[in-house]
Amino acid sequence: MRRANESTRLGVRPSNALLVRGARQIVTMRGPVRARRGAEMSQTGIVTGAAMLVENGRITQVGPASRIENLTQAKRAVEVDASGCVVVPGLVDCHTHLLFPAPRLQDYEKRIGGATYEEIAASGGGILSTVRAVRCSTAAGLEAAAARSLELMASHGTLLAEAKSGYGLETGLELRLLRALHRVSGPAEVVPTCLGAHAIPPEWKQDPDGYLAGVCAELLPEVARHKLAEFADIYCDSAAFSAEQSARYFDAATRLGFGLKIHASQFSSIGAVELAVTWGAVSADHLEAIEEADAELLARSGTIAVLLPASVLHLGLNRYAPARKLIDLGAAVALATDFNPGSSPTPSLPLVMSLACAQMRMSPAEAMTAVTVNAAAALRRAESAGMLESGRAADFCIFNVQDYREIPYYLGANLLRTAYRAGGPVFHQGGM
Ligand SMILES: [Zn+2]
Repeated sequence: MRRANESTRLGVRPSNALLVRGARQIVTMRGPVRARRGAEMSQTGIVTGAAMLVENGRITQVGPASRIENLTQAKRAVEVDASGCVVVPGLVDCHTHLLFPAPRLQDYEKRIGGATYEEIAASGGGILSTVRAVRCSTAAGLEAAAARSLELMASHGTLLAEAKSGYGLETGLELRLLRALHRVSGPAEVVPTCLGAHAIPPEWKQDPDGYLAGVCAELLPEVARHKLAEFADIYCDSAAFSAEQSARYFDAATRLGFGLKIHASQFSSIGAVELAVTWGAVSADHLEAIEEADAELLARSGTIAVLLPASVLHLGLNRYAPARKLIDLGAAVALATDFNPGSSPTPSLPLVMSLACAQMRMSPAEAMTAVTVNAAAALRRAESAGMLESGRAADFCIFNVQDYREIPYYLGANLLRTAYRAGGPVFHQGGM
């Protein structure tokens, strides 16, 4: 999905070399190339008085400006003036449902009017209303919807995004969603996840085991055969699939080579965290209702805790996941938007960072780690995304701030100035 030369496509002067200079800070995130846990999450690898040289789409130098600016290649490079700004790695959104055909405005107004999740679902809204919209969409329409979401996300700094299926809930439509995610051409790279077990479709309401058996025997093998997703995810909660059903799904997914993810302890704690740890899931996501013993279990495991505070905010709830406790226990925590049309219609990781700091008592450094290197690790991309280091693709954002801590501090402001992917500009505030 990565294009060779973004700058040509966008009509910007192509160049083999860029020199990023003048930044107040370059937040490199240098350190271990894996999810950082506990106290490691405070290490941001900030360099001041630095410059960054990019050649053929890759970073070749990050370090003191005095040295880099004197290199012969730097003298020939096109200059990117980052004066007074902060440079950070392209942000990574590791949990989204970005492919949806339309917003759910009726649900939004009903919820404001006091309707519960269950009441909205009973009146024809909720996940199943998006499923109906997907069932009426063409392949081209779905691709356009995904592209629109990616543009929005990139305009807030996201250059690598996970994207789940889960609004088809039958084999043909789930495959259509995943194919659209493969074909979509947008400013951010997409990592697709099969979420065939997102909800129990109405026609299977009396036989959820039967539905799940079909997902395991038909959908997952097809997805694996066509290499349409890297991860398999399931929604394990009292209103969706049980831990026992989730174990069956994990078994099938593991045999087919998928990485495992799970929607765990969002509303109720029914064994999802233990399951994630037992099966070595890459991540357990949500965790608003996680219990103490599960938090300890998770902190000792290799499973990354992916927290989604924007859904708590948008649903008007007040129970956030215990980020502080998880980090203090030594867990690896990542943050994501959960971008979706029902519970979290935000494409903004900076907003999620603000919530993490103000509502979950994460420090700005921990929040930055959680949307870069840890989010990349939650997508098994720690070796290619989330850090600014020699040899890596030049995916970076220039924020119009003097200190990276202003990114979460200015709640609700979009301070992104420019985003570059593989050395080519993909977003510029005010237009390209
Ligand atoms: Zn989700």
